[in-house]
Amino acid sequence: MHRVIILGIDGLSLSVLEKASSILKLNNIEEVLNKSIIKRSINSVIPPSSAPAWVSMFTGLEPHQHKVYDFFDLKALREGIIRLNPYLSSKELWQKTIWNRLSRQGKRVLVVGVPVFYPAREVNGVYICGELLIPKFDRSAVYPRRYYIDVVSMGMKVMFKEMHDMLTRVLLISSLGSQSDKEALVHEFTNHEMTKFKVFKEFFEKSEYDLSIFVSTAYDYLAHYMLDEFKIKKTINLLREYLEFIDEVFNYMISYTSDGKYVFIITSDHGIHTIRKVFLVNTWLKNIGLLKPNKTISYKYILIKNLGMHVARLILRLPIRIIRNEIYTRIEKKVRDAMKLRGVIEDINIYSSKAYALSYSSFGIFVKENEINDYLELMLKKFLNEKFKIITSNDPQAPDIFLIPYEGYTVSTKLLNLRNAIVNRKLLGTKIADHTMDSTFILYNNGSLSLEIPEVKSIIDIANLVYRILRCS
Ligand SMILES: [Zn+2]
Repeated sequence: MHRVIILGIDGLSLSVLEKASSILKLNNIEEVLNKSIIKRSINSVIPPSSAPAWVSMFTGLEPHQHKVYDFFDLKALREGIIRLNPYLSSKELWQKTIWNRLSRQGKRVLVVGVPVFYPAREVNGVYICGELLIPKFDRSAVYPRRYYIDVVSMGMKVMFKEMHDMLTRVLLISSLGSQSDKEALVHEFTNHEMTKFKVFKEFFEKSEYDLSIFVSTAYDYLAHYMLDEFKIKKTINLLREYLEFIDEVFNYMISYTSDGKYVFIITSDHGIHTIRKVFLVNTWLKNIGLLKPNKTISYKYILIKNLGMHVARLILRLPIRIIRNEIYTRIEKKVRDAMKLRGVIEDINIYSSKAYALSYSSFGIFVKENEINDYLELMLKKFLNEKFKIITSNDPQAPDIFLIPYEGYTVSTKLLNLRNAIVNRKLLGTKIADHTMDSTFILYNNGSLSLEIPEVKSIIDIANLVYRILRCS
């Protein structure tokens, strides 16, 4: 009977993994890439965002079946109210998960680092929450609860809020920091992932599991602000420490596959690729008269702000530590305020607008009146012309229109006084890469896997594949 190990890497596309392994000569990744049974890009879900994608992967359900489209409660957000998505917890989802279903069929499972599913509930084995989209890492993040103290003593304690605050630092350091600042940041993230992996190994080596899952989320955070595919060698070298850690994880996993018992699956929830252009969706909606602004930002303001960033960058190059820290703290506070969704909502007159976008993470537009749906869809198709896939939805928990970007494009909710709503990303600064539909799928085994492998076209099919390998339903 076979056993399965799943390694999930948030946001890592197959092409970046292949480039990393060849540039850094990562032998274990190279080995898996060369000897895999299947190696291809498969589809993420719509929208290709971490919350819906991880939930789909581990439940085998489409977003309209599990209702997770975004971190936010979109039904409330539609009215301008910011609230976390109530479906984003174990409460509604646990029964549908792969580890719960396998547990009920007597299989043993080990799960470490998966986003979203909190609190940890009963499984036939061990479940330890990750940090992404988990409210806190407390006793409820660990099942059985008695392992909580052990896990914390191994160093697992970082919470989503801390990780999210780190995002502000990633953003700042990637745009203002020196090379060594950036390397220090990669080091910090890698350390965190190493701790999580240490916890995984600790349990994995103590007992036997039919399904073991380990998810690393740091790459998503780093890639948004560091993945420049036009300077891929530089990027890969900057991420060296993290990628070498991933190579070590590969090494560990393939050492178990040598006798053919274990099947090793490497996957990601979506891809991340470098962007060149940004579609200012609210600016465009304002230009065609469907959105009424409370205020718009002038183009000049953005230019002055960018100039300010240049000046800050120059000052930060000065070798005076105190000034550096002082400036960082000040800018950090400003950026953190600016990142809050509230700013976007305040800029839009939601009451008198007919369509608007409030959360970029689900890549969607809310439409007030159903009658204009068709008109808007047509206008978008005409304007965006093959740069985005435009998909409509009837689910009140979802946006009415999804804008799924093809490589090189992304959306922004910024309201600018601008005629052309598609701008060079350099105008908006900061984010240099964003989510795409391509997820990684690699199946590796020592050749003894003698079963007909069901077709895996999308991350939703992975759950089925695992049931098939473990001969469960
Ligand atoms: Zn993700």
